[in-house]
Amino acid sequence: MRRVSILGATGSIGQNTIDLIARAPEAYHVVALTGGRNAAALARDAIALRAEIAVVADESALPELREALAGSGIEAAGGRAALIEAASRPADWVMSAIVGAAGLEPGLRALQGGAALALANKESMVCAGPLMLKAARDGQGSLLPVDSEHSAVFQALIGEDLSAVERIVITASGGAFRDWPLEDLDKATPAQAATHPNWDMGQRITIDSASMFNKALELIETKEFFGIDPAMIETVVHPESMIHALVGFRDGALMAHVGMPDMRHAIGFALHYPERRALPVERLDLVKLGQMTFRPACETRWPALRLARGVMEAGGMAGAIFNAAKETALDGFIENRIQFTRMAAVVEEVLTSLSAQTGLIDAEVTLDNVMQADHLARQKAREFMTV
Ligand code: NAD
Ligand code: MG
Repeated sequence: MRRVSILGATGSIGQNTIDLIARAPEAYHVVALTGGRNAAALARDAIALRAEIAVVADESALPELREALAGSGIEAAGGRAALIEAASRPADWVMSAIVGAAGLEPGLRALQGGAALALANKESMVCAGPLMLKAARDGQGSLLPVDSEHSAVFQALIGEDLSAVERIVITASGGAFRDWPLEDLDKATPAQAATHPNWDMGQRITIDSASMFNKALELIETKEFFGIDPAMIETVVHPESMIHALVGFRDGALMAHVGMPDMRHAIGFALHYPERRALPVERLDLVKLGQMTFRPACETRWPALRLARGVMEAGGMAGAIFNAAKETALDGFIENRIQFTRMAAVVEEVLTSLSAQTGLIDAEVTLDNVMQADHLARQKAREFMTV
C-alpha cells in the first residue's frame, strides 16, 4: 500500500485529490490530512480515509477536531508546529495543496523526508525554487508539478531533450474580467473577481486569475521548475481553457496538452506517475467544442505579467517578495481595503522599495532568508496600503 498525505486536504485541490484516492481505498494508506480551520470537514475525510493523523493549522479549531475524532483512533493535532511535524512523517507521496507561502515549509519537509511531492502549491517554487530543487536532488524525494500548465509542460517534455526546447507557452483563461472595459476594473468587487469562467478553484487563486497574478506566479514557476530562460516563456489568453500549455521545439513543432479543465487530470497524473492510469475525467469532444481562440495577454490590463518579467530577471529573493506582497494586497482587496487595480501597484511599490535594500534580493535562497524577505514584504505592503 502506498503511504500518502494531503496537505491542504479541505481545499479545492485537496478535495479533488481525496476524490481520486477514495475511489481505490485498498491501494492507499493515508498518513496525514491537514486543513486550515475547517475541523468538521477534515474530521469527516480523516474518518472516511482512516487517516493516521488530522491536523488543523489554526489551533483554535483543535478542540472541535478532537471532539469530532473522539473514539475514532485518529490522532488530532493543531498549530503550525504540528502541521510541519505531520508533513514530515514518512510517506511515499504527498500532495502539497496549502494556499500561499504557508505551504512552503510543510512541502519542503515532506520532500526532504523522501516523498514524491505533488506540487499544487506554486508559491513554493516562486519563493524558493532553488531550495525545492536542491531538496529533491539531495534526498530520496522527487517533485511533480500539479499546476495544470506545468503538468502539461512536464508531459510534453517526456522523452525530449530540454536543449531542443525553443519556447514554452503558458495559456491563461483571462479570468473574470478579460472582457471588461479597462476603466471599470477599479470598481470590481471581490465577489465578481472570485467567479471563474472555466475552473472551479479556491477563492484566492480565482481572484488571482482575474488579476493574472496567478499567471504571473506560473511564469515564475515555469522558470524555476524547468530551469528555462525567461525570454523563452510566453503567455497567451485562451478563453476556452482546453489547451493547458504548449512546448515549442527548435524544429518548429508545438506540442500541446489538450483536455477538459479538470484538476483531477494533473493530480491523477502526478499520483500515478510514471504510469498513465484511467482517470474519471470528462473526455473532450472536439466537434462539440467547435473552436479554440487566442488573444494577446495585455500588460496594461494585467500589469502582474510585466512585474513577473522583472522578478524572473532579478531572481534570488524577488519571488518571495513578489508573492508575499501579492498575498498581502490580495487580503486588502478581499477585505475591501484597496481597489482591484491597486493590488499590482502595491506589489510594484514593495518590489521597488525592497530592491533598493542592500543585499536583500541577492541573499542566498535559504528557508530563513525566504521567511525574512516574506516578512519584510508583508510589512511594506501593509505600509503602502495604509497611505
Ligand atoms: P483552497 O483555498 O481551496 O485550499 C487551501 C487549503 O490550504 C485548505 O485546506 C486550507 O484550509 C489550507 N490553508 C489555508 N491557509 C493555511 C495556512 N495558513 N496554513 C495551513 N493550511 C492553510 O486553495 P486551492 O484552490 O485548493 O489551492 C491550493 C494551492 O494549489 C494553491 O497554491 C493554488 O495556487 C494551487 N493550485 C490550485 C488550483 C485549483 O484548481 N484550485 C490549480 C492549480 C494550482
Ligand atoms: Mg494553473
